[in-house]
Amino acid sequence: MNDCIFCKIVKDEIQTNFVVQEADVVAFHDVNPLAPTHILITPKEHIATFLDIKSQHLELILKMITLSQKLIKDYNLGEAYRMVFNGGRYQHVPHLHWHLLADSTSPEALRSKRKVV
Ligand code: 5GP
Ligand code: ZN
Repeated sequence: MNDCIFCKIVKDEIQTNFVVQEADVVAFHDVNPLAPTHILITPKEHIATFLDIKSQHLELILKMITLSQKLIKDYNLGEAYRMVFNGGRYQHVPHLHWHLLADSTSPEALRSKRKVV
């Protein structure tokens, strides 16, 4: 979608602090972090909301899950983390994503926080 900010982010059209860029899914640091680690995981394909997920997207959702698991392990967040979907009036960007939030003080997490744009 032309006017979707996350579509522009996944196409690398606007400056973003990426954590991981894969063929179909990406992770990047939230511009307004609510925790020391606040990463957004999103598909490149424009799916608007949680309610728009269809069976044809299951492989894509599995890639989002696998990427999230890798980040939780790589950032040593396993002891305390949250993954959050916002919906309805709580969702501000209508491009499917979930938030990975944690209070980790691991060196990687602190480094990543300093790099938030
Ligand atoms: P939502 O309320 O849609 O679940 O959350 C959207 C999130 O995207 C918010 O936490 C907001 O800070 C983040 N966000 C919005 N625009 C940008 C942006 O241009 N870059 C980055 N990195 N994060 C953004
Ligand atoms: Zn989009």
